[in-house]
Amino acid sequence: MSEETKALNFIEQIIEEDLANGLSKESLRFRFPPEPNGYLHIGHAASICLNFGLGERYNAPVNLRFDDTNPAKEEQEYVDAIKKDIEWLGFKWDKELYSSNYFDQLYQWALEFIKEGKAYIDNQSSAEMAAQKGTPTEPGIDGPNRNRSVEDNLALFAQMKNGELEEGSHVLRAKIDMKHNNMHMRDPIMYRILKKDHHRTGDTWCIYPMYDWTHGQSDYLEQVSHSICTLEFKSHRDLYDSYLDKVCTEKDLRPKQREFARRNLSYTVMSKRKLLQLVEEGVVNGWDDPRMPTISGLRRRGYTANSIRTFSETAGISKRENVTDVALLEFCIKDDLNKSAPRVMGVLDPVKVVITNYPEGEEEWLTAENNQEDEAAGTRQVPFSREIYIEKEDFREAANKKFFRLKLGKEVRLKNAYIIKAESCTKDEDGNVIEIQCTYDADSRSGSGSEASQRKVKGTLHWVSVQHAVPAEVRIYDRLFVDEAPDGHKDVDFKDFLNPDSLQIINAFVEPSLKEAKDLDRFQFQRLGYFCVDKDSTADKMVFNRTVALRDSWAKKEVKK
Ligand code: ATP
Ligand code: MG
Repeated sequence: MSEETKALNFIEQIIEEDLANGLSKESLRFRFPPEPNGYLHIGHAASICLNFGLGERYNAPVNLRFDDTNPAKEEQEYVDAIKKDIEWLGFKWDKELYSSNYFDQLYQWALEFIKEGKAYIDNQSSAEMAAQKGTPTEPGIDGPNRNRSVEDNLALFAQMKNGELEEGSHVLRAKIDMKHNNMHMRDPIMYRILKKDHHRTGDTWCIYPMYDWTHGQSDYLEQVSHSICTLEFKSHRDLYDSYLDKVCTEKDLRPKQREFARRNLSYTVMSKRKLLQLVEEGVVNGWDDPRMPTISGLRRRGYTANSIRTFSETAGISKRENVTDVALLEFCIKDDLNKSAPRVMGVLDPVKVVITNYPEGEEEWLTAENNQEDEAAGTRQVPFSREIYIEKEDFREAANKKFFRLKLGKEVRLKNAYIIKAESCTKDEDGNVIEIQCTYDADSRSGSGSEASQRKVKGTLHWVSVQHAVPAEVRIYDRLFVDEAPDGHKDVDFKDFLNPDSLQIINAFVEPSLKEAKDLDRFQFQRLGYFCVDKDSTADKMVFNRTVALRDSWAKKEVKK
């Protein structure tokens, strides 16, 4: 669909209305405001695609603004990872900015507030303050420090700033209305003491502004026209506007906060706090563990930027909380890789096949198409010999008519190679098949044009020549959680729903062309799924991650339940 014919989402409708009401197109400006306290996840991708998408649609700048007002949780590592992920997704920000750039200005505004009698220092305990705050249905009551003199407030604020007061002992609060219908307006905290070094401002500050005191003013300073955030901030909008009332001047653009529903994804958790727990407790191997819903985890798993963008666009944005089915994400990557991933052969659970009428010591290199969906992908050579591996589950001594794979006395085609027929098999003491003896039809080579090559047999198997096989570690991932909404249960910890089988490590054999593959190269292992080279891969030991299986094993599991 072209940009023009696509239905407008509700944020675009708001912008169109503003434009119709006189806002100039040139004044459109957006931002993506991550807090550098963790890695970006697929939920952030929704916000990134929305904000940068608006930038593309309206040809307007989009800033990357790090919302770095809590040095206790923020780190340079996260700043770097966030930038890398946004770039990888294919977006370009206009300016790289930091809320901490505005610490001086915010402090000056706070002083003005105090002087105008609009802010005061409170040194009560947080329990006392909470008790005075009331509830959504009961008004709050004024605390004892509300009418402190301007001089005292200024003196105490200076002491806070100079590090003379203990962390947690004093806060600066806006003096608004303790009986306001909106709880956020009941004298919200503007500044707190935090004796922590900041990743950018070092030890310059030991008081730090709260989110609400920072966000709208940062939007104003950057002249952001539409400040788009998630629904939980809707109730903050009054405060956002009230602070702007006090700093905005007539001639400047006044930013507008609008909200959309968070992206939730089934079978995972999305909050950075919870993802951090999984990392710190070693449940996963870092933020980029391929089971994580992080952008870096999905990348390592083999997801393309394109698939994540398509997913974000397809899932769309909404005004109401909802959960997006992870199957949609899997569909998007399958669809993308189906077009682009070269086809190769790998055997995950091998059993040996000996082709008894194939000459010993002989080998031949057969031509195989790299992608039947894309002629331009070309061909490669695959070695064939007397001994090959096939998947254990592709052979049965006897099976019913619906088993279109190898069984005794019946034929199958080996992909890109010959038709073989199973003659006999050898078993170990426990009755497991350890070798299958077959014969082949020497005239049936695929692509040879012979009559036998055109012969139709039910069932085509993938295989790897034993003598040419490259051993590889294959990591098979499953959902990290067994529950659809692991953090949606009252009184049950989300970690109780961890899937104990979310990682399975397999020693597989792959065709030799894969020896050339590099980190993040993606392939379809024919009949199995999509796989990519993991960064742990070395020249001696290749490691592949399964991105997604061709068939969804969960669809089956769920029916059984
Ligand atoms: P989390 O709760 O996961 O830590 P956050 O909201 O604290 O998320 P921020 O770094 O503050 O994370 O978010 C940056 C931007 O991304 C914000 O505008 C936020 O609203 C948006 N965002 C965060 N999580 C989601 C989500 N799940 N879906 C859509 N947008 C999100
Ligand atoms: Mg946040």
